[in-house]
Amino acid sequence: MPVPATRPVPPALVIQTAFLGDVVLTTPLLEALARRHGPVDVVTTPAAVALVETHPAVRRVISYDKRGKDRGLAQLVALARTLRAERYAVAYLPHRSLRTAALAWLARIPKRVGFRDGWPLLYTDVRQRATSDHEIDRLLALAAAREDAGPRRPSLRLTSADRTVTEQFLREHGVGETLVALAPGSIWGSKRWPYFTELAERLAARAAIVVVGGSEDAALGEGTTAAVRRSGGQAINACGRLTLRESAEVIRRAAVLVTNDSAPLHFAQAVGTPTVAIFGSTVPAFGFGPRGPRDRVVQLDGLRCRPCSAHGPPSCPLGHHLCMKSLSVEDVLLAIEETGALHRRD
Ligand code: SF4
Repeated sequence: MPVPATRPVPPALVIQTAFLGDVVLTTPLLEALARRHGPVDVVTTPAAVALVETHPAVRRVISYDKRGKDRGLAQLVALARTLRAERYAVAYLPHRSLRTAALAWLARIPKRVGFRDGWPLLYTDVRQRATSDHEIDRLLALAAAREDAGPRRPSLRLTSADRTVTEQFLREHGVGETLVALAPGSIWGSKRWPYFTELAERLAARAAIVVVGGSEDAALGEGTTAAVRRSGGQAINACGRLTLRESAEVIRRAAVLVTNDSAPLHFAQAVGTPTVAIFGSTVPAFGFGPRGPRDRVVQLDGLRCRPCSAHGPPSCPLGHHLCMKSLSVEDVLLAIEETGALHRRD
C-alpha cells in the first residue's frame, strides 16, 4: 500500500491589528493556538511587531501598516495575495473590523474564525463574545476549547539584549534596586489622571521614579521627573527613549507600576509586576482591568456619568472631569500600600 506523501500543515494565522494593549492581551490566545497548530503567524501593526516577534507561540510576524504605507484597497489586496501563497488552513480574527475580515476572505483561507459581533458573513466559524468576561477570556473563546484555555494572563518574551540595554540605561541614570514605574499617558485625555507629578514627589523618598511611555508622552514625563529632581529625588523620563520591550523590562524591574487604563497596564500583567490601575471615564468591567491578587484599581464609584464611552473621550464631555480629579494622591498611595510592593523586607 503506498504511503501518502506528508505535506507540512500550514500554520494558523492570527490577524490582530488593534492597539498595543490588545495585542498583549491576545498572547494567551496565541499560546492556546500554538498548542493546537504549532507556532502561529501573526499579522499586526508595525508598532506591535516587537511585542510578538520574540514570543515562543509565534512563528513569523507580518507587519501591516494599515494607517500608513499599506493604507488603501490595493495594498489590502496585495497583502491578501501574499497570505494566499502561504496556504494557511485557518485564520483566527480577534479584531472585529471589516478590514480584518476582508483580508482573511480575500486571502482565501478556507476556515476563518471570528466573533458574531464582527463580520459573521465573511467568517466560516462564528464564536460568541461574552461581554461579562475579561478581554483575555473573550479572545480565548476564539480557540473554543477549554483544555486549550492556557494561562489567563498575558505574556511577553523579553530578550537578554532587552535586559542588558535597560540595565545600562537605568545604571547610567543612577537608578538602584528599588524603583517605581509610572505611566501617566493615554491617547484619550479623559483617561489621564492629572496628579502623577504630585504622586511622584511623594514616592521619591522611598524609590527612584521611572516614567514610561511613548515619545508622545515625553513632555508629560519631563514635567513629572523634573519636579522630582527639583525636590532632591531621583527620576528618569524614559518616555520615547526605550523600545516597547525595554519599557516592559523597566516595568518588570519595578516594585509597582501606577498607570491609567492604557497599554502599560497590560505590560505589567505580562511581566508579573504589581499594578495600581487608575480608571476614570472607563471601568474595569469593560474587561481590561488588572487580574493579579496584589493588583489594585483606583476609581470613583457612584458617579452617574461614568463610564461615558468605550475608549474614553479625548476630553470630559461635561467639562469637570470629576471621574479623575476626585481621585486623590492619598487614594493612590493607599492602593500602593495595599499591594505591599514598597514594604521593607527586614
Ligand atoms: S463625563 Fe463623567 S466619566 Fe466621562 S470624562 Fe467626564 S467625569 Fe469622566
